[in-house]
Amino acid sequence: MTTGPRGLYVHVPFCTKRCHYCDFSVARTRRPPIEAFIEAVTVDLDDWFASRSWDDRREIDTMFVGGGTPSLLGAEGMRALAGRLAERFRWDSHTDEWTAEANPNSLSADVCAAWLELGINRLSLGVQSFQDGPLEWLGRLHDAGEAMAAVERARAAGFERINIDLIFGLPDDVPRDWSADVARAVELGVTHVSAYGLTAEPRTPLGRRVDLGRVRMPGDGRYGDEYLDVSHVLRDAGFEHYEVSNFARTGHASRHNWHYWDGSEYLGVGPSAHSFLDGERIWNVYRWDLYRNAAENGVSLREGCERPGPAERRLERIWLGLRTVEGVPWSEVETTGREARIEAWRAEGWIAADGDRLRLTPEGWLRLDPVAAEVAGWSNDGTNRIGRTTA
Ligand code: SF4
Repeated sequence: MTTGPRGLYVHVPFCTKRCHYCDFSVARTRRPPIEAFIEAVTVDLDDWFASRSWDDRREIDTMFVGGGTPSLLGAEGMRALAGRLAERFRWDSHTDEWTAEANPNSLSADVCAAWLELGINRLSLGVQSFQDGPLEWLGRLHDAGEAMAAVERARAAGFERINIDLIFGLPDDVPRDWSADVARAVELGVTHVSAYGLTAEPRTPLGRRVDLGRVRMPGDGRYGDEYLDVSHVLRDAGFEHYEVSNFARTGHASRHNWHYWDGSEYLGVGPSAHSFLDGERIWNVYRWDLYRNAAENGVSLREGCERPGPAERRLERIWLGLRTVEGVPWSEVETTGREARIEAWRAEGWIAADGDRLRLTPEGWLRLDPVAAEVAGWSNDGTNRIGRTTA
């Protein structure tokens, strides 16, 4: 049975500069063509409504404006976008969750005030580190002072729900005190932290440097140590480690992201955005210039779609379930012939010892891919890295 999308994602594909590790759909510009973007997103929405025969304003319970750098929309751009969204969706800004991403150097006090007034009630800041050395190495636009000031500015403006993204697993020769970054996140009083491991994606400057042997990514030891460190420190400070990469104070888990993990339907608009509807995964044209061109010329904005079969759906259900503290029911797990292996995982502390569901511990999350493949009855090449690099 289809329920229709519960969450809406809008991808804003503009950044002033491209970070060295980024392979997201991003156009580099100081002056984003905001009007053209909103017109293209409107065409995207119109197309969804026409193709699905949705005639009313649809009710949703989460929205996430991500990127890219949504803070480059400023106050007016976000107001114009919100106006278009309100023509097609109904949400309650008191009970529903509306997140917008921002970069520290484009989040002014005026933008904070305007966004709050529009109903944005959760802010996600692309901090990555509170230290100048790593920020420069990553190619970020902001420095440590701007990162801290942005968190304080957002709080002073009235945002109660603030996420910060942090990146771990930098090469050994990049000077960085990871524990100090995690401690600073706690001190600043944010309600949510997303910690992602750095990955060297092939099409990025970092990926090319790694290929040429100019950069050596850290081994599994440092990667695992930093991951377990952030998990211990944040749990000690009262956060719940509720998903592989995510930590929240009580009541502050990201409801939007839960839609991705629990199999709910969601809609994505903007270049590269993904949707999941009626058992089908659909994704948009990746590049902003091609997306804009398609929207202006009446060409389809959809680049591809796939309908996973039953075995693939099962693997995905298990993999997504194991990402979270909910885990998966033992009835979903292929235990026959794997009893000894599962017992060994329990003895190693990779899976939680109790209950009627299989749940991974942080140590287990370091092995998520092979464990998920194994319990779903699939073979796996044994590699696993956590999450993605972040905006
Ligand atoms: S990592 Fe984020 S801020 Fe940096 S270029 Fe990519 S989308 Fe923009």
